[in-house]
Amino acid sequence: MNLILLGAPGAGKGTQGKTLSETYKIPQISTGDILRANVRSKTQLGVKAKEFMDKGALVPDGVVVNMVVDRIRQDDCVNGFILDGFPRNLNQAAVLESTLREMGKKIDLAIGIDVERKELVRRLSGRRVCRKCGASYHVIFNTPVNIGMCDKCGSEIYQRDDDKEETIEARLKVYEQETLPLIEYYGGKGLYKSIDGIGSVDKITKDIMDAIAKGSSNS
Ligand code: AMP
Repeated sequence: MNLILLGAPGAGKGTQGKTLSETYKIPQISTGDILRANVRSKTQLGVKAKEFMDKGALVPDGVVVNMVVDRIRQDDCVNGFILDGFPRNLNQAAVLESTLREMGKKIDLAIGIDVERKELVRRLSGRRVCRKCGASYHVIFNTPVNIGMCDKCGSEIYQRDDDKEETIEARLKVYEQETLPLIEYYGGKGLYKSIDGIGSVDKITKDIMDAIAKGSSNS
């Protein structure tokens, strides 16, 4: 099963992707996480990507596409994968499609997690994440038991640079201009399913799993 999680920054793709990955035992491929790991270890790719990420802009397609293609060619993707944060524009979607075709694979479903703008800003501006395991918290709505420390692994939690107010607006604008057209792209192929992203994490997971079950019974 090859899945795409679509949705604006803050919609919950990372959180849902993690659970789905554990449930279906297929890897979650988060381009944001891969890029941040490269920024942390100051690789050539990371140094280049950081300029764009700090502004809330997309990292150039050439960089990101190669990164994803290398990743989906790895052995652990043979039974499927969950793309979280990729594709982010029509060009990335087209390259993904042709790469998968060459590999004899295809996208089975693109799930859009729907959250209104005001709620996205509220979530992103208060978001804190664990440096080590990536678990997500919120300063008001989902605080860790011990301030500044991850409940799951005990590591430090921090605010992503691009979750600062000035960058959030830029990221949402990029999403609306570049990423939203993917709804029509996958909708036109009969592969798009929208899920309400407001409500409990468990309820949203259930809705996504229902959509996957329905999708696979149709194919
Ligand atoms: P995310 O963690 O998905 O919100 O991504 C954080 C940042 O990484 C984005 O604002 C972009 O700068 C960059 N990024 C992640 N995925 C992509 C992608 N598919 N294409 C271009 N840039 C990306």
